[in-house]
Amino acid sequence: MYTIIYYDIDGNFIITDENTYARYTMSVAIMNSLELTQALIRCPSITPEDAGAIDLLTHHLTPLGFTCLTETFTESGTASVKNLYARLGNQGKNLCFAGHTDVVPVGDASAWRIDPFKPEVIDGVLYGRGVVDMKAAICCFIVAVAEYLKEHTLTHSISLLITGDEEGPAINGTKKMLALLAERGEKLDACIVGEPTNPLKLGEMVKIGRRGSISFNLTVQGVQGHVAYPLLADNPITILIAILHALKAHRLDSGTEFFQPSNLEITTIDVGNPTGNVIPAKANATFNIRFNDLHTPSCPQVLT
Ligand SMILES: [Zn+2]
Repeated sequence: MYTIIYYDIDGNFIITDENTYARYTMSVAIMNSLELTQALIRCPSITPEDAGAIDLLTHHLTPLGFTCLTETFTESGTASVKNLYARLGNQGKNLCFAGHTDVVPVGDASAWRIDPFKPEVIDGVLYGRGVVDMKAAICCFIVAVAEYLKEHTLTHSISLLITGDEEGPAINGTKKMLALLAERGEKLDACIVGEPTNPLKLGEMVKIGRRGSISFNLTVQGVQGHVAYPLLADNPITILIAILHALKAHRLDSGTEFFQPSNLEITTIDVGNPTGNVIPAKANATFNIRFNDLHTPSCPQVLT
C-alpha cells in the first residue's frame, strides 16, 4: 500500500492511500449528472439509431470498474439494434438498472423552442429530446453509482441493462439480451426501471411493475359503390365506427391496488378515400390497450 499526496480539484492538499486515490480519480473522471445527460441527449438516437449513445455510456462505466458487454441483435425484417449489459462486482445480489437510450422522433422540429438534440437549461429546466424518457434517469443512475463508490466498498453487484429498442418494435432489445444473459449464467436479483412515473414531482410514486401494451389493426371489408346507390354497396366505415364505439364504451376493469384501469385508445382511422361520392371498399383502424395486472399478454380476456 502506497501513500499518495495530491491536490484535489478544490485545491485541498490530500495525503491518502492508493485505494482512496483510485476512487477519487474515478469520481472526477465522471461528469455530473446534468453534463452526462446533455452528452447523451446530443446523440440523436431515434429508434433504431444508436448514434453513439451506448458507446458514451460504456466510456463512462468502464473507468468505474464496470465490465461492459455490448451486443447488436439482428432479425430479418427489423433494424439491428445495439444493447449494453454492464456489471460491477461479481459477488452478492445483483441490483440492475434497466433502461433505454432510444427516443421517439421529434415531430415538427420547428415547433421546438430549441434544437431537440442540443439540450439547454432554460429557467432551471433541461430541455431536449429524451430527457424524461429516459436519458436523464440512466445518467443519474450512473453518477449515483460513482458517488456511492466514493464512500463505500461494494459488497454486492450493480448492473445496467440498456437497450436501444424500446420505443420501436422492441424485437432486438431487452428480451434477447435477457436470453443471452441467462445463457451466460447472469442473474438479476432486482431491477429498477427509470421510466418516468411521477407526474408532478420526483419521488411522488414508485411502481412495482409496468402495464402491458398490445396494439391491434382492424380492417373492415365492405362493398364499394356510388353514394347515390347505397343499397348496392356496403359501407365499411359505418361498421368500423360501430365496432370502435362498442370497444371504446366497454369497461375493461376497474383497476387494481397498484394500477389504474386498463384503457383502450384508438390511435388512427384510415380509409384513404380521395373522393366525396364513392363508398370505399374497406376501412382500417388501429388501437392500443394498456392493460393492468388483471390480464396477461396470452389471455385475451381484455376483449371479452
Ligand atoms: Zn421509456
